[in-house]
Amino acid sequence: MNVHDSERLSGLLEDAGYARAAEDTTADIVVFNTCAVRENADNRLYGNLGHLRPVKDANPGMQIAVGGCLAQKDRGEITRRAPWVDVVFGTHNIGSLPTLLERARVQKEAQVEIAESLEHFPSTLPSRRESAYAAWVSVSVGCNNTCTFCIVPALRGKEQDRRPGDVLAEVRALVDEGVSEVTLLGQNVNAYGSGFGDRQAFSKLLRACGGIEGLERVRFTSPHPRDFTDDVIEAMAETPNVMPQLHMPLQSGSSKVLKDMRRSYRQERFLNIVEKVRAAMPHAAITTDIIVGFPGETEEDFQETLHVVREARFAMAFTFQYSKRPGTPAATMDGQVPPDVVKDRYQRLVDLQDRISWEENQKLVGREVELLVSEGGGKKDGEHRRLSGRAPDNRLVHFAVGDGEEPRPGDTVTVEVTYAAPHHLVSDSGVRSLRRTRAGEAWAARNGRPVPERKPEVLLGMPAIGVPAEQPAAAGGCCET
Ligand code: SF4
Repeated sequence: MNVHDSERLSGLLEDAGYARAAEDTTADIVVFNTCAVRENADNRLYGNLGHLRPVKDANPGMQIAVGGCLAQKDRGEITRRAPWVDVVFGTHNIGSLPTLLERARVQKEAQVEIAESLEHFPSTLPSRRESAYAAWVSVSVGCNNTCTFCIVPALRGKEQDRRPGDVLAEVRALVDEGVSEVTLLGQNVNAYGSGFGDRQAFSKLLRACGGIEGLERVRFTSPHPRDFTDDVIEAMAETPNVMPQLHMPLQSGSSKVLKDMRRSYRQERFLNIVEKVRAAMPHAAITTDIIVGFPGETEEDFQETLHVVREARFAMAFTFQYSKRPGTPAATMDGQVPPDVVKDRYQRLVDLQDRISWEENQKLVGREVELLVSEGGGKKDGEHRRLSGRAPDNRLVHFAVGDGEEPRPGDTVTVEVTYAAPHHLVSDSGVRSLRRTRAGEAWAARNGRPVPERKPEVLLGMPAIGVPAEQPAAAGGCCET
């Protein structure tokens, strides 16, 4: 969410006439988009602000702005502790940044603007996308839940849903620009529709994305098990461009801890959803988030978490040692678990999950997968030059490319998996087929590379299953309601 907010901030500033500073130059404006979910966010912010102070002193006219969750939380405290900051803006005030910078410049004093809530979803804010071929698309902001470890509801407010027509219009516009993968984004993405009284709105949105020509991959994050209804599983399984991947936070396998966390599902419901997803999409990769050492967690509770991990066989888990977040109910709960106990449980959980991830990855050796080539690969590895890509189930695959083969980020390749590690796969047997895509062209155009004239596609290997046919570059008509 924060990464996408940064894209919006960049888009807003570019619209207001600012340009991205070249590397190794001193920027005229520095914007910090802070995240209070991360540990030590405040120490890092004030540390960074301290480093910038002499830079600002040496460059009169330079402006510093601080936004995001920490700005929402600390408000006027920021300009008190760092009076050289020019603008502080809250999570609901992103759209005001250019005006606040201007006002601070004219009035020569710091501007602090923090709204308590959003009036409506800010659908019209521009974005400066980091990637030419994959994009985040927000469907909602805020969250109506009150998980006791989480600061989000306090800082992001109640859920505000975006109108389905606005979401789909943004997706279509992105596809017209060459994007082939979108990730629908919401703090509680599958509660989408609660604001306008349609409990099946999220599954309808997935199906509508399935009808967008040229959109090859649809993902979403993060769903809440409480709102994970069967219609979403059906829509995932029946919509070819919705990828066989589910990231669904477990947080704890103990029903007692889940209750203390105020997570309104229990172990049985979580495992039941996993079972249904596996039945509908046997090759889906399911990943999760788990917190170890929540206040009051006993060894028995922790064993329940290990039980769910064994049963669910997650492809991967983001694991966290519980640490207090000031301002959350859990920070003052009795039964805080001693750090050495948390550490020990955490290590046992990581060892188990790594073993399962590795076993699950090994099942893919010998299988052919279609990868969307990512940016940032190309590491030399012996005589092979490897690039990286994501499989439909979002697994990371490093694949070898031969001389003369130049897949661009955004293109797709088909490769055979030859080796599995716990956290990635490798293909060293060569590219079976390369599909040059509009997304690859979009990447090339953005990076000043030649964009050859489009030829009809030639697939050398097995045709990909379930991926919509590429459309010619001409703008398509809009046929969705
Ligand atoms: S559902 Fe997610 S965002 Fe909402 S309160 Fe719980 S952890 Fe925070």
